[in-house]
Amino acid sequence: MGNHHDDLARLASFFGGEEALNIVKALANAGTTTDDVIATQANVRLNTARKVLYKLYDHALVTCIRSRDEKTGWFIYHWKLQPDQLDAFVRSRKKKALEQMRTKLEFEKGHSFFVCKGCPGIRVTFEDAMESAFRCSGCNGQLVSDDNSRTIQMLEDHSRKLESELSEGPIAFADGRF
Ligand SMILES: [Zn+2]
Repeated sequence: MGNHHDDLARLASFFGGEEALNIVKALANAGTTTDDVIATQANVRLNTARKVLYKLYDHALVTCIRSRDEKTGWFIYHWKLQPDQLDAFVRSRKKKALEQMRTKLEFEKGHSFFVCKGCPGIRVTFEDAMESAFRCSGCNGQLVSDDNSRTIQMLEDHSRKLESELSEGPIAFADGRF
């Protein structure tokens, strides 16, 4: 359940922060509804609601049905969350993040690194440091060995967390369990 909230929060930050999160929640609670209602329930401006809805629509995370108001003749758009798509979307983003993390982890484990104390951006592998005779390409200062055990630990922790999240069941977006 905690993870579900994390998923939603992460998803929302991808689509526009707190307001997007409120919009997804409003949609999940409402079932099918109009952008007016969503804006009111999420307590955001109509334009904001529409912007987020279009983004979600672009990723096929919501569906939209158009009808015509018989009195005004204007179109009304009815929006509905696609929980399965949403779940698949979150999963695929997590899988991608996990792959990137594993690649980075392999690289960190397989190399020794050297840094320059004076240049925060300089970090090279042992091989590259050898080539420059352990001189910094930025300031020509001495490169020193960098202990990456904490980086490795952090990457391993994050990978494990993602792995366990991916092994869980689908996210329950539509049953009000936020
Ligand atoms: Zn330097």
